Amino acid sequence: MTHVPADELESLALDELSRDRAAQVEAHAAACPQCAHELSWLRAERTLLTRRPLPQTAHLWAGIAALAPAARLRDGPALGRDADARSRAAR
Ligand SMILES: [Zn+2]
Repeated sequence: MTHVPADELESLALDELSRDRAAQVEAHAAACPQCAHELSWLRAERTLLTRRPLPQTAHLWAGIAALAPAARLRDGPALGRDADARSRAAR
């Protein structure tokens, strides 16, 4: 039996699959204990994450904005060169 790829199970748990594909994956999971188990974990994970309140970060932005111009002046052109070098190294 070919199992459903993990990314598709995740997409189903997040309600991001098309209706047709979701029905196919649900049908597979109904007949496949392994995929059903994985899907139930993904859905439990999603439920836990949606219950957790988002951390309050709005107060951080004033400090970040205050630091950003200084970082640009100090490191400005070098940041671009470093990014280009990393980009080339990744190829
Ligand atoms: Zn399966």
